[in-house]
Amino acid sequence: MDDFIRRLPKCELHLHLEGTLEPAMASAFAGRHGTGEPDLLEARPGTFSGLSDFLAAYYAAMKGLQTEADFYELTSAYLETARHQGVVYAELFFDPQAHTARGVGFDAVVSGIHRAQQDARDRGGPDTALIMCFLRDEPVSSAVETLAQSLPYRARGWILGVGLDSDERGNPPEKFAGVFADARAAGYRLTMHCDPRQDDSLAHLWQCLDLVGVERIDHGLECLADTRLTEEIARRRIGLTACPLSNLRLYGTLMADAVTELLARGVLVSLHSDDPAYFGGYIADNFEAVQEASGLTRSDLARLAKNAFSASWLTAGRTRSYLAAVDEHSGA
Ligand SMILES: [Zn+2]
Repeated sequence: MDDFIRRLPKCELHLHLEGTLEPAMASAFAGRHGTGEPDLLEARPGTFSGLSDFLAAYYAAMKGLQTEADFYELTSAYLETARHQGVVYAELFFDPQAHTARGVGFDAVVSGIHRAQQDARDRGGPDTALIMCFLRDEPVSSAVETLAQSLPYRARGWILGVGLDSDERGNPPEKFAGVFADARAAGYRLTMHCDPRQDDSLAHLWQCLDLVGVERIDHGLECLADTRLTEEIARRRIGLTACPLSNLRLYGTLMADAVTELLARGVLVSLHSDDPAYFGGYIADNFEAVQEASGLTRSDLARLAKNAFSASWLTAGRTRSYLAAVDEHSGA
């Protein structure tokens, strides 16, 4: 089964590049730039007491990320790991405000990531696209400024979509409805995080659908508490990007039952990594964890893999060819 999972063609849709900053690399960057050993390195992979606790470690480790070359190395290392995990296509998150707020240029961040994407493509994969996340615990004005900074890169086709991450408490989707409308008008695809175990989860999910008009929701498993919401997510074919090992490290449960329930209800749910350097596993590891917990069959695993390609922002033709590759691997 492990070999089947490793070789299953996979699409990664919920992966924060900064969340792939393994402790050794964080130390190396800090040493290179003399920014001091990052705090909280010993806490990973590990257990966090919720989202805010994790975010403190996440931001503390980033201070060594300074130059275009650093972002190139970070992204290249991840893409090499992703290839070994059976990822053939990925839409990757990055958090520009976490860097520009420290005085790192937007161009250094995006150019380093882009160069690594190109090199991976030239070496045979995986193919990737980029999603710029706004930090929801920063003011809307900062998101507006970041959107403006991104537009030249949007024009070059370097950034495909926008997302929303960081601390959800007190930062509902509606706070960002205006900047997301502007992003859509600029040609961006739209997704937003609705993390597990948050206050007002259902209200936030409805806002994603009715106020923002997102095409995907990152996490989003709390929708099961509202039958009409779940049906609406299924009807609109909105992808939910579940991250089992993230759920385990933050909330003490893989939420594997929610994944199987969503599959049974016809929701386009899929499995992803979130911040693997913190949560102890990349995408194939997440598939394995859910398979072991729920006894999923090869056919269930193939369906989860296909859901991710169907929820991706690939062209219809490329989606079809990846779906055929999954079928071929799983003998369907
Ligand atoms: Zn995430």
